[in-house]
Amino acid sequence: MPHAGIVTVVGKPNAGKSTLLNRIIGEKLSIVSDKPQSTRNRVVGIRTTDDAQMIVLDTPGLLNPRYELQRAMRSTAIRALKDADVIIYLADATDRVPPSLVEAADLDAPPTAPVWTVLNKTDLLRPVEREELREALPDARLISALSGEGVDQLLVDLEEALPPSPFLYPEDEISTASTRFFVAELVRETALEQLDEEVPYSLACEVEEFREGSAPLYIRTVLYVERESQKRILIGAGGRRIREIGRDARGKIEAFLDTRVYLDLWVKVLPNWRKSDSAVRRFGYRLHDDHST
Ligand code: GDP
Ligand code: MG
Repeated sequence: MPHAGIVTVVGKPNAGKSTLLNRIIGEKLSIVSDKPQSTRNRVVGIRTTDDAQMIVLDTPGLLNPRYELQRAMRSTAIRALKDADVIIYLADATDRVPPSLVEAADLDAPPTAPVWTVLNKTDLLRPVEREELREALPDARLISALSGEGVDQLLVDLEEALPPSPFLYPEDEISTASTRFFVAELVRETALEQLDEEVPYSLACEVEEFREGSAPLYIRTVLYVERESQKRILIGAGGRRIREIGRDARGKIEAFLDTRVYLDLWVKVLPNWRKSDSAVRRFGYRLHDDHST
């Protein structure tokens, strides 16, 4: 009997969850950014080997419910904890010894699944810091999602820890999330790379049209911001910034889909969308999700 189940990766923004997920799945599935809170949706990646299938959930950062958006993010993360067979509590090793997951996430009770504390970014540690962490947390695993150190062993142990079960998804499926979602994420990631301050948290992306069968593949994507001033920043003088975002994003999308793409980018203002429940849902930052196994 093979092993199959769910591994939920949880941790503070910037701990390296998306980087680890990308390494585990081997494809660029989850947005990686050095700006915190860039992962708003729960991305499901699937890793299938000869005798194990691991469904990996990337969670939004654990946050306090300040805006609607953040409440949605938090409830998605809590849900992902409940679904897990194993929980990877990923922490940035350069922050030293992390608080317990229960404390960090302000949970009412410990999750039922086993929690593995994994300290990431060991490539940035001096040997003495490594020793300190090993002494303080003897059970913690040390890895570098960036260099790959410790990741292979982690995967072997995870596969063994999953319950005996037939595979839950077809073997060649790397993700259940839709192509449209990844395209929107790639556009958003590209825009985040080229912008600073203020705008990023107000930015949402939606693929409005995805014309199957057209060559090149026609994709219309709308970038939503909250204010006219942000729209001006995003478009840039003479449209230079948005053209640059479009060019870079098109390159990434073509690499991802392995086909030529015509990317039609629009910028629209949707005032205060982050405070609106319906807008938060509409962009897929939903309060409940339909993941089923
Ligand atoms: P997330 O918010 O938890 O999803 O974190 P990301 O995966 O987006 O990573 C946040 C930042 O940390 C990015 O700049 C990554 O390149 C960086 N990062 C992630 N893992 C490592 C690692 O093992 N070593 C180093 N040096 N940087 C890392
Ligand atoms: Mg992330």
